[in-house]
Amino acid sequence: MTMVQTVTGAIPVSELGRTLMHEHLFIAFGGAEFDPTAVFDRAAFIAEAARRLRELREIHGVRSFVDPCPIELGRDVAMMREISEQSGVHVICTTGFYFEEMGLPPYWRARTVDEIAELYIREITHGIGTTGIRAGAIKVATGAPVITEQEKHFLAAACIAQKATGVPIITHTQDGVGGPEQQRLFADGGVDAHRCLIGHCCGNADPAYHRRIVDGGSYIGFDRIGIPRLMPDETRADNLAKLVKDGFRSQIMMSQDRHCAWLGKFQRQTSPRELARIEELRAEGKWPPPYTYIFTDFLPLLHARGVTQPDIATMLDENPRRFFAGEALPAPSGGR
Ligand SMILES: [Zn+2]
Repeated sequence: MTMVQTVTGAIPVSELGRTLMHEHLFIAFGGAEFDPTAVFDRAAFIAEAARRLRELREIHGVRSFVDPCPIELGRDVAMMREISEQSGVHVICTTGFYFEEMGLPPYWRARTVDEIAELYIREITHGIGTTGIRAGAIKVATGAPVITEQEKHFLAAACIAQKATGVPIITHTQDGVGGPEQQRLFADGGVDAHRCLIGHCCGNADPAYHRRIVDGGSYIGFDRIGIPRLMPDETRADNLAKLVKDGFRSQIMMSQDRHCAWLGKFQRQTSPRELARIEELRAEGKWPPPYTYIFTDFLPLLHARGVTQPDIATMLDENPRRFFAGEALPAPSGGR
């Protein structure tokens, strides 16, 4: 029986059930901890995050939630464990760093590929710090417009750790580019394409880009659903429906890249108008945006484009199970 590591221990992949493959609970960009205006009430946050996960489970049947928080973005796996226990939703955490422009601590930039791989393997096989909580996947992130030499270094370490441990890789791509290059680097590193989920591909509007990813044999992330700043959901829905029609539903992972809280101010400067709108939403209990958006707002867009319930079940229930199990992709099917 193939097992997957969650923050509360190993479970059979058959128990994953409906899974959101790329969401976050808490994020803190490096340096936010020094901001005297940044306040964080840990107990209140855990209660709110657990409430949000319970809503996902009870109303929408979500059983599992992957939080691929990079190590240096405030990853707090003990907090993830408390939230998982309170909500009854499985949470899977990852090992791995963010991309160069926004992350990669100087200490780790100075390490060799083997030293980085050693850290990743330890977090997967022994646990993170002294928590005993093991990572269930490896996070890889690259920036834009090109993948940097530093990022290639960390990606190579991820390949070593993947082959040593058998856990899959979940990636971040920036600005809708870099997916095919990641695939080539994973192949060069000896990692099978179907062990990789190339993330944030819905940030590219061109169906030919998506086709390159699925033809390359990886999973493709339409995992920023509900972030209109990066792409209108109508375009995401058009492109996702096209992939399904072309027979690739077994390679699509849907998620939202949401978070329940982050430390301090926004990572980018925000206009007073934007901030006022956010305060309005917060007062209505709609900020940060809920994890349920995919079910309440996005699935209807897919249904209107001919995507069926069996297609949805394949993407949300079957694909995550097969991905963590490491099973080969089925032949393209469901095309019409
Ligand atoms: Zn993310």
